[in-house]
Amino acid sequence: MTKGDKIRRVLERRDLDLTGEELEERWLNDNDDDSLRGLALEWNCQVLDCSLRDQGHLLDTETVRTKTKNLIDKELSMTESDLQERGIDLESVLDDFVTYQTIYSYLTLVRGVEYEPSPSGKSHAISTLSRACTKVELMAQSKLDARDIFAEGELTADVDCGAPCPSCEARASLTYWLVEEHCPQCGYGKRRSTKPIEPKGRD
Ligand SMILES: [Zn+2]
Repeated sequence: MTKGDKIRRVLERRDLDLTGEELEERWLNDNDDDSLRGLALEWNCQVLDCSLRDQGHLLDTETVRTKTKNLIDKELSMTESDLQERGIDLESVLDDFVTYQTIYSYLTLVRGVEYEPSPSGKSHAISTLSRACTKVELMAQSKLDARDIFAEGELTADVDCGAPCPSCEARASLTYWLVEEHCPQCGYGKRRSTKPIEPKGRD
């Protein structure tokens, strides 16, 4: 069973406001609140809210959100006893909580969503990032040259902003992430790699 199947099972069992179609639309719409992490938080809030309603408790959105975050962060004591007093079965609530990876698996593997980002936003981000890196390089280079450790220009500063893959932790440059939108090693990402990735040969 794939990780994303959990979403389908919970949707069948619980009366959430979210639907599979809605998760898909919101992810594709590119709003900041609808990142995978944002959608996972909303999902978890709805799971808790649904259990509260079943026990006859109508709490406001903010309160539900705070309690949900406390449960996720394992800040349990207060929240836990409060919810237990309200008759909530915490184990079943936590069982139905998901991570952003589960939402991702559901959208890509179960629903087969392919994501195409808007090109304007992307090229803007790439050029901003590359300008920022150049600035840091120039600044670093002038500091190095001023220290007189080597002959001027012999030691070259090279700024590479990168980030590890959330799935396999392989490191890739931010420009790579922005352009390719998937991990160079395992293919994790919004736009998945279409071919298996060959390890780079070393000469
Ligand atoms: Zn990876």
